Amino acid sequence: MINANTVLKLAVQKSGRLHDDSMKLLKECGIDITNGVNKLKSEASNFPLEVFFLRDDDIPQYIEDAVADIGFVGENVVYEKNKNVQVEHKLGFGKCRLSIAVDKNETYDGVQYLQGKRIATSYPLILNDFLQKNNVTAEIHEISGSVEIAPGIGLAHAICDLVSSGSTLFMNGLKEAETILQSQAVLIRNKDLDEAQQTILDKLLFRIQAVKKAKN
Ligand code: ATP
Ligand code: ZN
Repeated sequence: MINANTVLKLAVQKSGRLHDDSMKLLKECGIDITNGVNKLKSEASNFPLEVFFLRDDDIPQYIEDAVADIGFVGENVVYEKNKNVQVEHKLGFGKCRLSIAVDKNETYDGVQYLQGKRIATSYPLILNDFLQKNNVTAEIHEISGSVEIAPGIGLAHAICDLVSSGSTLFMNGLKEAETILQSQAVLIRNKDLDEAQQTILDKLLFRIQAVKKAKN
């Protein structure tokens, strides 16, 4: 039985590419959230769940610190932040890939092309891992946004950025050279949930799986 006083705290993106699908999933799970997007948090009326609206980048840290118990966030963010959290379930939305792209007129003949080059990215940790695994030494130039313009303004030879359709790359005269991570939204959790929290999480996961089955 669920402890009547326990409420599971879920962190979702406040606004952006994951927000709508996150709220839609809760709705499909039969969970009613009075949606106050401008509020920091909102409580479900018919399920022991409290939803926190946050920047996606902050979610792994909040889960590690147990400010929230679980979160919906992209795998790209989970791996880049490298916090002490556990990936519990793939959610099937927010699909994209983290790719290396170069000027469309360049001849890209494999990872060795990147040797000695400068690569602009918002994902220095994942990129560094990839380069190390491939024995490539390159300069990683970290920027927080508009990474795709870096080659055009002479800031970098290549970029490492999220891609879905590829239209942003195309519009900036770039081509995808290498995919380094396939990503989608996942449910992450704090590693030390108590029994009552775990019971609520199991119930939520059961509903998420039922929603997925109904779609297949
Ligand atoms: P926030 O204000 O919360 O920090 P953001 O600008 O960092 O938002 P969004 O652009 O809304 O983030 O992307 C959120 C997540 O959506 C990404 O981390 C990624 O997991 C996923 N995503 C799916 N497709 C794409 C795409 N084409 N480009 C960028 N992110 C994508
Ligand atoms: Zn973000």
